[in-house]
Amino acid sequence: MQFRDLPSVDRVMSSDGMAALTESYPRDWVVDLVRRELDRARQKIRDGGKAPSAGDVADGVGGELRSINEVAPRQVINATGVIVHTNLGRAPLSQSAIDAMTQAARGYTDLEMDLSTGRRGSRQAHLQSLLQQVTGAEAALAVNNNASALLLGLSALSVGKEVIVSRGEAVEIGGGFRIPDVLKQSGATLVDVGTTNRTYIRDYQDAITDNTAALLKVHSSNFRVEGFTAEVEPSELVELSKERGIPVLHDVGSGALLPTEAYGLAHEPTPQQSIAAGVGLVFFSGDKLLGGPQSGIVVGQTELVRRLERHPLARAVRIDKMSLAGLTATVLHYLKQEAEAEVPIWKMISAGEQGIKDRVTRWKNQLSLPGEVISGRSAIGGGSLPGETLPTWVLALSCEGDAGGPERVMRRLREADPPVIARIEDDRVILDPRTVMPEEEEALVTALRDAFAA
Ligand SMILES: *Cc1c(COP(=O)(O)O)cnc(C)c1O
Repeated sequence: MQFRDLPSVDRVMSSDGMAALTESYPRDWVVDLVRRELDRARQKIRDGGKAPSAGDVADGVGGELRSINEVAPRQVINATGVIVHTNLGRAPLSQSAIDAMTQAARGYTDLEMDLSTGRRGSRQAHLQSLLQQVTGAEAALAVNNNASALLLGLSALSVGKEVIVSRGEAVEIGGGFRIPDVLKQSGATLVDVGTTNRTYIRDYQDAITDNTAALLKVHSSNFRVEGFTAEVEPSELVELSKERGIPVLHDVGSGALLPTEAYGLAHEPTPQQSIAAGVGLVFFSGDKLLGGPQSGIVVGQTELVRRLERHPLARAVRIDKMSLAGLTATVLHYLKQEAEAEVPIWKMISAGEQGIKDRVTRWKNQLSLPGEVISGRSAIGGGSLPGETLPTWVLALSCEGDAGGPERVMRRLREADPPVIARIEDDRVILDPRTVMPEEEEALVTALRDAFAA
């Protein structure tokens, strides 16, 4: 019977290395980990396995403590070519944004103090003035993320009232965030108009009642309707809204402050454009195409923004000091017209094909692996510009000689330090330099060499 060979808790506790562990952690807690490790061993024995030695159990506990000590989330190398990769934390930040966040984290800040008077000041004054200049809006407010910005906006402006949305725009954004649910949560009633593929201005017109609080327009950022379609432009909605005294709210999603069409992509609605059209409030994310830290931004008419600021939810969804610092530094890049050179998202979007080809050819030459440099497509991702891609050059590595095939190579790459995330196409492992930072290249080449080693 293998159970008899199972070491006692005391024997494990007195084995090599355990003394060092109980110096760093509470003894009772380590004993608990040992008990759980022994439970797992018992289960393995029931399944036909062998009893571990005291040393094996101690090693298991040591491994668990090492993983507890790991920094999380960990840095990974994104070689997928998906620029705004939600699973990989969306936008990497500019050096100035990182510096601003570090200094805000390290010590005290003038977060809510006006240094010229020594009195209480607004945490957002500086950012608000930058956002006003960059978007042309009268007023601005930053909160935790775009989902909370929308929830705040709808709660503050439309509780107990009706909000009119096109049927084609009552969408799910991802991660279970659905426009109809947000409206319900904010206490508003959704009135959907038009059809999935076509909505006209008269549909909105006919639906307006004395109880209408707003006309809501949502950018269908993660899907595309093709063919027989019609949607109402913000400027048309604004005209109607002026006649009836009802504000237009526009969720543009990705927060592209630069014109995507100048980079060979489809046009993504910009906050500036909506403001110029006269929209009451524009909502967008700070960490998609804007390229900053997680945050949600509202810009628009002063009177409406003030109502959001005064709502009790504003405090619940307020932005933290580090994100505020990083977002301020990021928005400043746009005002200084240096976003393309400084904001990583835009550096990646604007990267030239020849430069990409040179980089990937260098990788290939540093490795002696069966692979070739071929043309490919990088995706924008992050629920913006669905189906839109940029021409790129990728390293395609053949896994024919490898028993585990591309899946094994992908797993080995994920186990590297830092982990490398790639993709598989036609049984080959594909690596796109567009989303790999230059300073990550050496680690990437090493990881590839190790992953393909027997
Ligand atoms: C991404 C997105 C959101 C949610 O933004 P978060 O910043 O992730 O909360 C809301 N609306 C649209 C149209 C989006 O694309």
